[in-house]
Amino acid sequence: MNVAVRTTPSEIAPEPADALDHLADALFHKMGTDGVYARTALYEDMVERLAALITRHREPGTEVMRFPPVMNRGQLEKSGYLKSFPNLLGCVCGLHGTEREIHSAVGRFDAGGDWTSSLSPADLVLSPAACYPVYPIAAARGPLPPGGLRFDVAADCFRREPSRHLDRLQSFRMREYVCIGSPDDVSGFRERWMVRAQTIARDLGLTFRVDYASDPFFGRVGQMKAVSQVQQSLKSELLVPLRSEEQPTACMSFNYHRDHFGTTWNIVDASGQLAHTGCVAFGMDRLAVAMFHTHGTDIARWPGGVREMLGVR
Ligand code: AMP
Ligand code: ZN
Repeated sequence: MNVAVRTTPSEIAPEPADALDHLADALFHKMGTDGVYARTALYEDMVERLAALITRHREPGTEVMRFPPVMNRGQLEKSGYLKSFPNLLGCVCGLHGTEREIHSAVGRFDAGGDWTSSLSPADLVLSPAACYPVYPIAAARGPLPPGGLRFDVAADCFRREPSRHLDRLQSFRMREYVCIGSPDDVSGFRERWMVRAQTIARDLGLTFRVDYASDPFFGRVGQMKAVSQVQQSLKSELLVPLRSEEQPTACMSFNYHRDHFGTTWNIVDASGQLAHTGCVAFGMDRLAVAMFHTHGTDIARWPGGVREMLGVR
């Protein structure tokens, strides 16, 4: 017979406090799951002001699109997401059976049992990044115009990486500028945005550095992909030292996908050359947390220049 061993509260080691914990009450309301939070008015107002600032830097000729928090599962599968980050993906499931089967699942729940074994996947996943849906939309328009295409996209994103740290959410907002064009179009776009993004961070009074980075590819093969990504300088991040210099938080990223999405979606120019793509991503929630961590939760006491930049009176 197994005897349950009970741990009394005094035996449970207290969670070491995180450097961002002091912000929790002012910015978030708990919703029962780590990394998924309701947002206070103070916080949401800052996210909106940061979004407006990013909009002011939008290049002319950039098409605006806003995506819902879900996207077509087949499109994400085709983009290769399962090869790189299968552990982070959230998939929409539903009770898709007959009326009898659905009643029986609910009946099991009512009787204290498990209903989730009756779930089956829908044709939707939770978008893990804002830019995935834009490539098939661009591809459907036919050959690229000279100079390529630029988009301003945003979505509520989901990544299954539960954490108690306020800068690592499961559900967070991502804003991106995307370029689809020739290798030169994309490298020019990337260079311009590396400069512009640092201007934004400086205007916001943030301490930061920009460094080469890799994505958290899954598994042992993934580690090799990460090394190759750094060797080819395909990703950089704007890092803000929120809890330490050694473990800074990536608040923006600059990504060069080469012809990955061009090949996947057959995006070509008028002469049939495969498109290259790149994006600059702003982590809206991380930027907001960084602002409050840097300047405090009393916006009236923020530096005048920062307040002016954000239109705070
Ligand atoms: P990535 O595609 O990983 O470069 O993500 C783009 C941006 O989204 C990052 O630079 C972060 O600012 C933000 N981001 C990524 N993961 C998270 C997360 N778990 N919680 C909050 N923000 C995130
Ligand atoms: Zn992107």
